[in-house]
Formats: sequence, structure tokens, C-alpha cells
Amino acid sequence: MFWQEDVETLAQDKLQELQLKNLNETLQTAKKSQFYSKKLANIGFLKNLSDLKNLPFTEKQDLRDAFPYGLLSVDLSDVVRVHSSSGTTGNPTVVFHTEKDLREWANISARCMYTAGARKTDIFQNTMGYGLFTGGLGFHYGAEKLGMMVIPIGPGNSQRQIWFMKNFKVSAAHILPSYAVRLYHAMRDSGVNPKTDLNLKIFFIGAEPHTEELRREIQDLYGVKAFNSYGLSEISGPGVAFECLQQNGMHIWEDYVIPEIIDPDTLEVLPDGQDGELVLTTINRQAMPVIRYRTRDLTKIITGVCPCGRTHRRIERIKGRTDDMMIINGVNIFPVQIEKTIMNIPEAGKNYIIEITKQNFMDKLNVKIEINDETFGGTLEELERLKAKIQAKLKEETGVSPNVSFVDRGSLPAAEGKAKRVYDLRNEKK
Ligand code: ADP
Ligand code: ZN
Repeated sequence: MFWQEDVETLAQDKLQELQLKNLNETLQTAKKSQFYSKKLANIGFLKNLSDLKNLPFTEKQDLRDAFPYGLLSVDLSDVVRVHSSSGTTGNPTVVFHTEKDLREWANISARCMYTAGARKTDIFQNTMGYGLFTGGLGFHYGAEKLGMMVIPIGPGNSQRQIWFMKNFKVSAAHILPSYAVRLYHAMRDSGVNPKTDLNLKIFFIGAEPHTEELRREIQDLYGVKAFNSYGLSEISGPGVAFECLQQNGMHIWEDYVIPEIIDPDTLEVLPDGQDGELVLTTINRQAMPVIRYRTRDLTKIITGVCPCGRTHRRIERIKGRTDDMMIINGVNIFPVQIEKTIMNIPEAGKNYIIEITKQNFMDKLNVKIEINDETFGGTLEELERLKAKIQAKLKEETGVSPNVSFVDRGSLPAAEGKAKRVYDLRNEKK
């Protein structure tokens, strides 16, 4: 049931003892870098875990400013690999690994998949990008460590994905939620029914924000259990937090990171159960530890213990990034609110984009949705009624009146990596 029972079920007070010890070691390591030697110059040995809140934050911009080697805490000759973030919100940041860092990363990634029920008998297809992006190699080494047979297929080429899934009786796959929707359509177009023609049982989905509604949809379409996987390259990559079989929040592995939730405006640390920004401190990395790293991801720590027996606390599904927030005529909206509404309307397709434009000095929210030709074969009149229904539901959820339009299936831009859902065209020249 457990990958490492002793540490996964360690009592919280023992876990905190371990954290304090490893945090102090990490601070010593971090101070060997140019960046932290200055930033932590006045910081000595911490007596209590609660002293962490007095340490300065590390921001994404710090990593960019210190490019390329400013945060490197070991001799360059001990570095065996470099990765970078996807660059979703700006210039990518680089992250270094020693051989031990890679071993630990593979271990935590294996623990995640084991926690979600994967075993060495599984055949695992990894549809994430290999290379600098951490989703591919991060899961790859974890899956091998777990002992699964790995198909390192990488992203794209849906026909080839289906061919491998079918011929190798693939039982587990790592897939972007947005790509899972597109792959399902490709299957349907080629006459493959994933529920009856394939052997899929487990999906690991993550790397981009998605709603509970989309997860359920993916589970229904494929007849699988889909587990939420959270990570970011600055902390290694995937493997930071993962759902167990309860599918009720992601266990954040507290022997690898110390999580804090802060109010992103006042920067004050919030108690468990309150929404805010996730801040992470690594406590077992060598090449590039990060101290109080502001992830910009919005979530909360779930209170209460998980029935699975793991003592590591859980974080809630990521609501979005602080920089994902759209301000439409003064109203704050997150893209996931739009997704949630669309997923609750069965006639609407599952693929959508959001465009923000300006009309007569006013912001306009435009939502373009692919029509679901499986559930909707209606007349123009019915289409108008459906549009009005979606508009009303979106207004109810977000507080602004959107403009909804339908597009043909397959006509929205399809990214090979993370889906780009929001296009802010307010500053575009006409
Ligand atoms: P980038 O920040 O450039 O996208 P990464 O590839 O390191 O670079 O992606 C990490 C980010 O992806 C996280 O900070 C988070 O915003 C998002 N992310 C990762 N996993 C999830 C998930 N399960 N749910 C929502 N967002 C996620
Ligand atoms: Zn659990």
C-alpha cells in the first residue's frame, strides 16, 4: 500500500523534527551559492521550524536575475543535468541537479505513482514532453524505479499514441488534461473506444490548471481513474504533491519540501484551511535548493487527516496562478471558473479558449467553445438557446456578461505542451 511506509506515515511531530534538521542542512548548502550567500548572510542555525517564516522569500524574478549560475550551490563538476521551466509566464528559469538530486526525484516520482495505485506490472505510456521540460524525464525515471515498462513516446501524434496504447495494452499514462480531451476525439475518429478496446486504468494528469469537472469528464470518457499531479521545475518538477486513491487533495511530500501558504498581498503566513499562495522550501536538494520559493500557485492546505494513512498534509487542487487572474472591467476572474461552467453543460464541447478584447473602452470577455457533436446535433434555434444558456451560467459564475461563440471541433489552436487558454488581445493594434 505504501512505497515507503515508515516515512509516509511518520507522525507529524516526528516529520517536523526531520524537517528542522534537513532545513538547517539545506540552509548551509544554499549559502554556498552566490545568491543565498548574500540573501541569507545573517541567518544562523534555526532552533524551531516556526523560524522559517522570518527568512526572506525567493521569487521567480530572483532566479531569472541570477541566471545562469547564481543559485548553484555545488561545484559545477557535481552537476549532472539541467532542466528549465516551460516559460509559461516569461523567460524560463534553469534548475540544476546532482546525481543524488536525480535519484531523490525518481524516488519521489515513483512514490507518487505508487500512491495512486501504479505497480510494477503496469505498462506506462508517458505522453509528456521529453527534454528540458520536467514532465517527461521526471516521470520517466520514477516509472522505471517503480518497475513499470515505460513507453517514452513523448507528446503529439495521436495515431501513434493510440497504436501503442492498443498494441502494448497500456494500463497507465501520464497526460496533460487538455491533451486527454483531444486524444479522446482522435480515438473516436478512428473508431477506437477507449473503454472497450484499450486496457487503460490509471491516468496521471497535471502540469496545467484544470477543474474537478474536467477530471470527472476524463474519467468518464476513458473509464479510468485520473490522479492530479502537481509540481514545478524550480522544486525538481513533478512529484511535489500527488493524489492518493481517495482523490481528495494532493499529499505534499513533507520530507522533501516544507509548504507554507501566504496571503499574496500582505505576505503573512496563513493557517491551514485558508486560501493563499503556496510557498515551498526544498529540504533535500543539493545542486539548487530554494528557500521560501513563491510559486504563485493558489491553493490551501486541507485540514484533517487522510483516511489513506499518510500523514503528509494535503493541498487542494490549484485554483490558478496569481498571474492567471483576468481583470475584466474591474472584476477578478480565474480561467478555471469558466472551465467549470462549460464542463457542467453536457452539450458544450470540452475544448475552449478565452479571448479578452476591448470595445468602446470596455473589456469584453469572449469564450469560444468547440461544439460537442456527440451530444448536440441540434438546429440553429437550439444552438442559439444553448448559447444563451452558457452565457447566463457564465454570468452567474463570474459576474460579467461574456460573448459566447461556437467553433468546429478541431479548429482551436492545439498546443503540443501546456494548453494556452487565455488570449488577452486588449493591447493588440487593430
Ligand atoms: P512554467 O511555470 O513555466 O509553466 P513548469 O513547467 O515548471 O513551468 O510548470 C509548473 C507550473 O505548472 C506550476 O507552478 C503550476 O502553475 C502549474 N501546474 C503544475 N501542475 C499542476 C496541477 N496539477 N494543477 C494546476 N497547475 C499545475
Ligand atoms: Zn491520502
